[in-house]
Amino acid sequence: MSLVAVARERRSVELASMPEEVTRHRLALASRVYLPACSIVAIAAALVAIGAASRWGGADFAGSMQSLRVIVVGPLTLAIVAAFLVVERLRPAQRRPIFARGYRHDFLYTLLNATLVVPLVTALTLSFSEVVRRSLPWLIIGRVDVVPRWCVIALIFIAMDGCNWLAHLANHRVRVLWRFHELHHSQEDMSVLTVFRTHPLIHVSYLGALIPGIVLVANGAMPTLLLVIYAAVVAFAHSNTNLGFGPLGRILVSPNFHRIHHRVDAAQDVNLGFALTIWDQLAHRAVFPTEASIRADTGLAGRPLVVEQGTDRPRHLAVFAAQLVAPFRPMDNDRELPSIRGEKSQRHRPRQRSHTGRSDPGASCSGSLREGAVER
Ligand SMILES: [Zn+2]
Ligand SMILES: [Zn+2]
Repeated sequence: MSLVAVARERRSVELASMPEEVTRHRLALASRVYLPACSIVAIAAALVAIGAASRWGGADFAGSMQSLRVIVVGPLTLAIVAAFLVVERLRPAQRRPIFARGYRHDFLYTLLNATLVVPLVTALTLSFSEVVRRSLPWLIIGRVDVVPRWCVIALIFIAMDGCNWLAHLANHRVRVLWRFHELHHSQEDMSVLTVFRTHPLIHVSYLGALIPGIVLVANGAMPTLLLVIYAAVVAFAHSNTNLGFGPLGRILVSPNFHRIHHRVDAAQDVNLGFALTIWDQLAHRAVFPTEASIRADTGLAGRPLVVEQGTDRPRHLAVFAAQLVAPFRPMDNDRELPSIRGEKSQRHRPRQRSHTGRSDPGASCSGSLREGAVER
Protein backbone atom coordinates (compact mmCIF):
# COMPACT_ATOMS: atom_id res chain seq x y z
CA MET A 1 0.00 0.00 0.00
CA SER A 2 1.38 3.42 -0.89
CA LEU A 3 2.11 6.09 1.70
CA VAL A 4 -0.71 8.21 0.32
CA ALA A 5 -3.22 5.35 0.75
CA VAL A 6 -1.97 4.64 4.29
CA ALA A 7 -2.27 8.32 5.22
CA ARG A 8 -5.82 8.54 3.85
CA GLU A 9 -6.93 5.36 5.61
CA ARG A 10 -5.44 6.49 8.93
CA ARG A 11 -7.11 9.88 8.62
CA SER A 12 -10.54 8.43 7.87
CA VAL A 13 -10.26 6.06 10.88
CA GLU A 14 -9.29 9.00 13.13
CA LEU A 15 -12.16 11.16 11.92
CA ALA A 16 -14.73 8.37 12.27
CA SER A 17 -13.87 7.87 15.95
CA MET A 18 -14.25 11.58 16.94
CA PRO A 19 -17.35 13.42 18.21
CA GLU A 20 -18.89 15.57 15.46
CA GLU A 21 -18.19 18.93 17.16
CA VAL A 22 -14.52 18.09 17.77
CA THR A 23 -14.21 16.83 14.21
CA ARG A 24 -15.59 20.09 12.81
CA HIS A 25 -13.23 22.25 14.88
CA ARG A 26 -10.27 20.09 14.05
CA LEU A 27 -11.04 20.12 10.34
CA ALA A 28 -11.43 23.90 10.42
CA LEU A 29 -8.05 24.31 12.14
CA ALA A 30 -6.37 21.68 9.99
CA SER A 31 -7.56 23.48 6.87
CA ARG A 32 -5.46 26.46 7.95
CA VAL A 33 -2.50 24.91 9.81
CA TYR A 34 -0.60 21.63 9.61
CA LEU A 35 -0.97 20.83 13.31
CA PRO A 36 1.82 18.20 13.67
CA ALA A 37 4.35 20.89 12.72
CA CYS A 38 3.35 22.78 15.85
CA SER A 39 4.55 19.82 17.94
CA ILE A 40 8.11 20.54 16.75
CA VAL A 41 7.72 24.16 17.89
CA ALA A 42 6.38 22.91 21.24
CA ILE A 43 9.36 20.58 21.73
CA ALA A 44 11.81 23.37 20.89
CA ALA A 45 10.02 25.84 23.19
CA ALA A 46 9.88 23.31 26.06
CA LEU A 47 13.58 22.54 25.70
CA VAL A 48 14.56 26.22 25.65
CA ALA A 49 12.36 26.88 28.70
CA ILE A 50 13.91 23.96 30.62
CA GLY A 51 17.40 25.11 29.66
CA ALA A 52 16.76 28.71 30.69
CA ALA A 53 15.19 27.60 34.00
CA SER A 54 18.21 25.43 34.80
CA ARG A 55 20.62 28.21 33.73
CA TRP A 56 21.77 25.96 30.90
CA GLY A 57 22.99 23.31 33.34
CA GLY A 58 25.71 25.66 34.59
CA ALA A 59 27.22 25.99 31.11
CA ASP A 60 28.50 29.29 29.75
CA PHE A 61 25.82 30.16 27.14
CA ALA A 62 27.78 33.00 25.54
CA GLY A 63 30.94 30.87 25.34
CA SER A 64 29.04 27.92 23.85
CA MET A 65 27.39 30.19 21.31
CA GLN A 66 30.76 31.62 20.32
CA SER A 67 32.17 28.08 19.83
CA LEU A 68 29.23 27.14 17.62
CA ARG A 69 29.59 30.36 15.64
CA VAL A 70 33.24 29.51 15.03
CA ILE A 71 32.17 26.13 13.63
CA VAL A 72 29.37 27.54 11.46
CA VAL A 73 30.86 30.81 10.20
CA GLY A 74 34.27 31.18 11.86
CA PRO A 75 37.32 32.39 9.89
CA LEU A 76 38.53 28.86 9.11
CA THR A 77 35.06 27.72 7.99
CA LEU A 78 34.67 30.80 5.75
CA ALA A 79 38.14 30.24 4.26
CA ILE A 80 37.23 26.61 3.53
CA VAL A 81 33.88 27.64 2.00
CA ALA A 82 35.67 30.25 -0.16
CA ALA A 83 38.10 27.58 -1.37
CA PHE A 84 35.15 25.29 -2.21
CA LEU A 85 33.50 28.12 -4.17
CA VAL A 86 36.65 28.33 -6.29
CA VAL A 87 36.67 24.55 -6.82
CA GLU A 88 33.04 24.82 -7.97
CA ARG A 89 34.15 27.18 -10.77
CA LEU A 90 37.01 24.90 -11.80
CA ARG A 91 35.22 21.52 -11.66
CA PRO A 92 31.48 22.22 -11.94
CA ALA A 93 28.97 19.40 -12.10
CA GLN A 94 26.64 21.83 -13.93
CA ARG A 95 27.78 25.13 -15.51
CA ARG A 96 25.99 28.12 -13.98
CA PRO A 97 26.37 31.90 -13.64
CA ILE A 98 28.55 32.91 -10.72
CA PHE A 99 25.55 34.57 -9.05
CA ALA A 100 22.92 31.97 -9.96
CA ARG A 101 19.58 32.57 -8.29
CA GLY A 102 19.93 29.49 -6.08
CA TYR A 103 23.33 30.71 -4.83
CA ARG A 104 21.93 34.11 -3.89
CA HIS A 105 19.03 32.47 -2.11
CA ASP A 106 21.20 30.06 -0.13
CA PHE A 107 23.27 33.07 0.93
CA LEU A 108 20.14 34.28 2.76
CA TYR A 109 20.10 30.97 4.64
CA THR A 110 23.78 31.42 5.44
CA LEU A 111 22.95 34.79 7.02
CA LEU A 112 20.03 33.24 8.91
CA ASN A 113 22.33 30.55 10.31
CA ALA A 114 25.01 33.04 11.34
CA THR A 115 22.52 35.25 13.18
CA LEU A 116 19.42 33.49 14.54
CA VAL A 117 20.14 29.77 14.13
CA VAL A 118 23.38 29.78 16.14
CA PRO A 119 21.72 31.01 19.38
CA LEU A 120 18.74 28.70 18.82
CA VAL A 121 20.93 25.63 18.33
CA THR A 122 23.10 26.63 21.29
CA ALA A 123 20.00 26.79 23.50
CA LEU A 124 18.67 23.47 22.17
CA THR A 125 22.06 21.78 22.59
CA LEU A 126 22.65 22.94 26.17
CA SER A 127 19.05 22.20 27.18
CA PHE A 128 19.00 18.74 25.59
CA SER A 129 22.32 17.86 27.24
CA GLU A 130 20.99 18.99 30.63
CA VAL A 131 17.75 16.99 30.18
CA VAL A 132 19.72 13.82 29.29
CA ARG A 133 22.17 14.31 32.18
CA ARG A 134 19.32 14.77 34.66
CA SER A 135 16.87 12.15 33.45
CA LEU A 136 19.31 9.46 32.33
CA PRO A 137 22.39 9.87 34.59
CA TRP A 138 23.21 6.13 34.27
CA LEU A 139 23.96 6.73 30.56
CA ILE A 140 27.08 8.73 31.35
CA ILE A 141 30.24 6.66 31.52
CA GLY A 142 32.77 7.63 34.19
CA ARG A 143 36.46 8.11 33.54
CA VAL A 144 38.12 5.07 31.94
CA ASP A 145 41.88 5.62 32.03
CA VAL A 146 42.88 2.63 29.90
CA VAL A 147 41.26 3.99 26.73
CA PRO A 148 43.36 6.63 24.92
CA ARG A 149 41.66 9.99 24.38
CA TRP A 150 42.05 9.84 20.60
CA CYS A 151 40.18 6.53 20.64
CA VAL A 152 37.27 8.09 22.54
CA ILE A 153 37.16 11.04 20.12
CA ALA A 154 37.13 8.67 17.12
CA LEU A 155 34.30 6.73 18.75
CA ILE A 156 32.27 9.88 19.40
CA PHE A 157 32.87 11.01 15.80
CA ILE A 158 31.66 7.72 14.30
CA ALA A 159 28.69 7.38 16.66
CA MET A 160 27.68 11.02 16.09
CA ASP A 161 27.76 10.46 12.33
CA GLY A 162 25.64 7.31 12.77
CA CYS A 163 23.08 9.23 14.86
CA ASN A 164 22.94 11.95 12.20
CA TRP A 165 22.28 9.24 9.59
CA LEU A 166 19.39 7.87 11.67
CA ALA A 167 17.89 11.32 12.18
CA HIS A 168 18.24 12.01 8.46
CA LEU A 169 16.42 8.75 7.67
CA ALA A 170 13.64 9.85 10.06
CA ASN A 171 13.50 13.17 8.18
CA HIS A 172 12.62 11.19 5.07
CA ARG A 173 10.23 8.69 6.67
CA VAL A 174 8.31 10.76 9.24
CA ARG A 175 5.98 13.13 7.49
CA VAL A 176 6.14 16.01 9.98
CA LEU A 177 9.94 15.96 9.83
CA TRP A 178 9.87 15.78 6.05
CA ARG A 179 7.85 18.99 5.94
CA PHE A 180 10.82 20.76 7.59
CA HIS A 181 13.46 18.82 5.64
CA GLU A 182 12.01 19.29 2.15
CA LEU A 183 13.36 22.85 2.08
CA HIS A 184 16.87 21.40 1.95
CA HIS A 185 15.89 19.15 -0.96
CA SER A 186 14.19 21.92 -2.91
CA GLN A 187 17.49 23.40 -4.16
CA GLU A 188 17.89 23.10 -7.92
CA ASP A 189 21.19 25.02 -8.01
CA MET A 190 23.24 23.01 -5.51
CA SER A 191 26.30 24.74 -4.12
CA VAL A 192 28.45 24.62 -1.03
CA LEU A 193 26.02 27.13 0.56
CA THR A 194 23.15 24.60 0.24
CA VAL A 195 24.40 23.09 3.49
CA PHE A 196 22.85 26.16 5.18
CA ARG A 197 19.52 25.73 3.38
CA THR A 198 17.71 24.13 6.28
CA HIS A 199 14.67 25.10 8.31
CA PRO A 200 15.82 26.35 11.75
CA LEU A 201 13.49 23.90 13.52
CA ILE A 202 14.90 20.83 11.76
CA HIS A 203 17.75 20.95 14.28
CA VAL A 204 15.34 19.52 16.87
CA SER A 205 15.46 16.22 14.96
CA TYR A 206 19.27 16.05 15.12
CA LEU A 207 19.65 16.52 18.88
CA GLY A 208 20.10 12.75 19.33
CA ALA A 209 23.52 13.11 17.68
CA LEU A 210 24.69 14.81 20.90
CA ILE A 211 24.19 11.62 22.91
CA PRO A 212 27.58 9.96 22.13
CA GLY A 213 29.35 13.15 23.29
CA ILE A 214 27.22 13.33 26.45
CA VAL A 215 27.80 9.63 27.28
CA LEU A 216 31.59 9.90 26.88
CA VAL A 217 32.09 13.46 28.12
CA ALA A 218 34.26 12.33 31.08
CA ASN A 219 36.68 10.63 28.67
CA GLY A 220 37.07 13.22 25.94
CA ALA A 221 35.25 15.78 23.83
CA MET A 222 35.29 16.54 20.14
CA PRO A 223 37.82 19.34 19.50
CA THR A 224 36.39 22.38 17.72
CA LEU A 225 38.82 21.82 14.83
CA LEU A 226 37.40 18.34 14.22
CA LEU A 227 33.87 19.75 14.23
CA VAL A 228 34.94 22.39 11.69
CA ILE A 229 36.36 19.62 9.49
CA TYR A 230 33.14 17.63 9.88
CA ALA A 231 31.09 20.68 8.88
CA ALA A 232 33.45 21.25 5.94
CA VAL A 233 32.99 17.67 4.68
CA VAL A 234 29.20 18.06 4.87
CA ALA A 235 29.36 21.43 3.12
CA PHE A 236 31.63 20.13 0.37
CA ALA A 237 29.23 17.23 -0.26
CA HIS A 238 26.70 19.86 -1.40
CA SER A 239 29.07 21.64 -3.75
CA ASN A 240 28.42 21.91 -7.47
CA THR A 241 31.51 19.87 -8.28
CA ASN A 242 32.06 16.63 -10.15
CA LEU A 243 34.43 15.15 -7.59
CA GLY A 244 34.20 11.60 -6.33
CA PHE A 245 37.29 11.10 -4.07
CA GLY A 246 38.46 7.92 -5.92
CA PRO A 247 38.72 4.85 -3.67
CA LEU A 248 38.15 7.07 -0.59
CA GLY A 249 34.68 7.77 -1.99
CA ARG A 250 33.67 4.29 -0.85
CA ILE A 251 34.00 5.50 2.75
CA LEU A 252 33.72 9.30 2.68
CA VAL A 253 30.66 11.14 1.37
CA SER A 254 31.73 12.96 -1.80
CA PRO A 255 29.79 15.60 -3.78
CA ASN A 256 29.01 12.94 -6.41
CA PHE A 257 27.66 10.59 -3.73
CA HIS A 258 25.48 13.20 -2.01
CA ARG A 259 24.14 14.57 -5.30
CA ILE A 260 22.33 11.25 -5.77
CA HIS A 261 20.51 11.98 -2.51
CA HIS A 262 19.25 15.25 -4.05
CA ARG A 263 18.34 13.83 -7.49
CA VAL A 264 15.02 15.09 -8.77
CA ASP A 265 14.22 12.02 -10.86
CA ALA A 266 14.79 9.27 -8.27
CA ALA A 267 13.97 8.26 -4.71
CA GLN A 268 15.82 10.49 -2.23
CA ASP A 269 15.93 8.18 0.81
CA VAL A 270 19.30 6.82 -0.30
CA ASN A 271 22.84 8.12 0.42
CA LEU A 272 21.71 9.68 3.69
CA GLY A 273 25.22 9.78 5.17
CA PHE A 274 26.76 13.01 6.44
CA ALA A 275 30.47 12.16 6.37
CA LEU A 276 30.70 8.36 6.19
CA THR A 277 29.03 6.09 3.64
CA ILE A 278 29.17 3.03 5.91
CA TRP A 279 25.67 3.57 7.33
CA ASP A 280 24.12 3.61 3.86
CA GLN A 281 26.10 0.52 2.93
CA LEU A 282 24.99 -1.32 6.08
CA ALA A 283 21.35 -0.36 5.41
CA HIS A 284 21.60 -1.18 1.67
CA ARG A 285 20.86 2.43 0.86
CA ALA A 286 24.17 3.31 -0.78
CA VAL A 287 24.04 4.23 -4.46
CA PHE A 288 27.49 4.99 -5.83
CA PRO A 289 27.95 7.60 -8.57
CA THR A 290 27.88 6.91 -12.29
CA GLU A 291 28.63 9.19 -15.26
CA ALA A 292 24.90 10.00 -15.48
CA SER A 293 24.39 10.77 -11.79
CA ILE A 294 27.34 13.18 -11.55
CA ARG A 295 25.51 15.87 -13.56
CA ALA A 296 21.96 14.92 -12.56
CA ASP A 297 19.40 17.65 -11.87
CA THR A 298 18.45 18.20 -8.24
CA GLY A 299 15.34 19.47 -6.47
CA LEU A 300 11.80 18.26 -5.88
CA ALA A 301 9.70 17.14 -8.84
CA GLY A 302 6.49 19.09 -9.14
CA ARG A 303 7.90 21.81 -6.87
CA PRO A 304 5.64 21.11 -3.89
CA LEU A 305 7.56 23.88 -2.09
CA VAL A 306 7.93 27.32 -3.60
CA VAL A 307 11.47 27.87 -4.91
CA GLU A 308 13.41 30.88 -6.07
CA GLN A 309 13.78 29.42 -9.56
CA GLY A 310 10.00 29.35 -9.96
CA THR A 311 9.43 33.12 -10.06
CA ASP A 312 9.60 35.20 -13.22
CA ARG A 313 11.86 37.74 -11.50
CA PRO A 314 13.88 37.50 -8.26
CA ARG A 315 11.65 37.63 -5.19
CA HIS A 316 14.13 36.22 -2.71
CA LEU A 317 12.62 37.64 0.47
CA ALA A 318 9.05 36.61 -0.40
CA VAL A 319 10.19 33.09 -1.34
CA PHE A 320 12.42 32.90 1.75
CA ALA A 321 9.49 33.81 4.06
CA ALA A 322 7.16 31.41 2.25
CA GLN A 323 9.65 28.56 2.63
CA LEU A 324 10.02 29.14 6.37
CA VAL A 325 6.25 29.18 6.87
CA ALA A 326 5.64 26.23 4.52
CA PRO A 327 5.88 23.39 7.11
CA PHE A 328 2.88 24.91 8.92
CA ARG A 329 0.68 25.18 5.86
CA PRO A 330 -2.05 22.57 5.31
CA MET A 331 -0.72 19.55 3.53
CA ASP A 332 -1.73 18.24 0.16
CA ASN A 333 -1.38 14.50 0.69
CA ASP A 334 -1.26 13.76 -3.00
CA ARG A 335 1.75 15.93 -3.70
CA GLU A 336 3.70 16.65 -0.55
CA LEU A 337 5.27 13.34 0.35
CA PRO A 338 8.94 12.42 0.30
CA SER A 339 10.11 10.23 -2.53
CA ILE A 340 10.62 6.74 -1.12
CA ARG A 341 12.37 3.78 -2.68
CA GLY A 342 9.87 1.49 -4.38
CA GLU A 343 7.04 4.07 -4.17
CA LYS A 344 5.57 5.20 -7.46
CA SER A 345 4.64 8.84 -7.05
CA GLN A 346 4.49 11.87 -9.24
CA ARG A 347 7.84 12.89 -7.78
CA HIS A 348 9.43 10.38 -10.11
CA ARG A 349 7.79 11.71 -13.22
CA PRO A 350 10.29 13.22 -15.63
CA ARG A 351 10.26 17.00 -15.64
CA GLN A 352 9.00 18.93 -18.64
CA ARG A 353 11.63 20.93 -20.44
CA SER A 354 11.20 24.66 -20.16
CA HIS A 355 12.15 27.26 -22.73
CA THR A 356 15.24 28.00 -20.64
CA GLY A 357 16.59 24.65 -21.75
CA ARG A 358 16.44 23.38 -18.19
CA SER A 359 13.76 21.04 -16.97
CA ASP A 360 10.84 22.89 -15.45
CA PRO A 361 9.13 20.89 -12.72
CA GLY A 362 6.95 23.83 -11.80
CA ALA A 363 5.15 23.92 -15.12
CA SER A 364 2.09 22.21 -13.65
CA CYS A 365 2.09 24.08 -10.31
CA SER A 366 -0.35 26.74 -9.28
CA GLY A 367 0.36 29.84 -7.21
CA SER A 368 1.82 33.18 -8.23
CA LEU A 369 5.27 32.34 -6.94
CA ARG A 370 5.43 29.17 -9.00
CA GLU A 371 4.45 30.53 -12.35
CA GLY A 372 6.81 30.87 -15.26
CA ALA A 373 10.30 29.77 -16.02
CA VAL A 374 13.25 31.96 -15.17
CA GLU A 375 16.62 33.09 -16.26
CA ARG A 376 19.21 32.17 -13.65
ZN1 LIG B 1 17.61 14.35 2.91
ZN1 LIG C 1 21.95 17.52 1.38
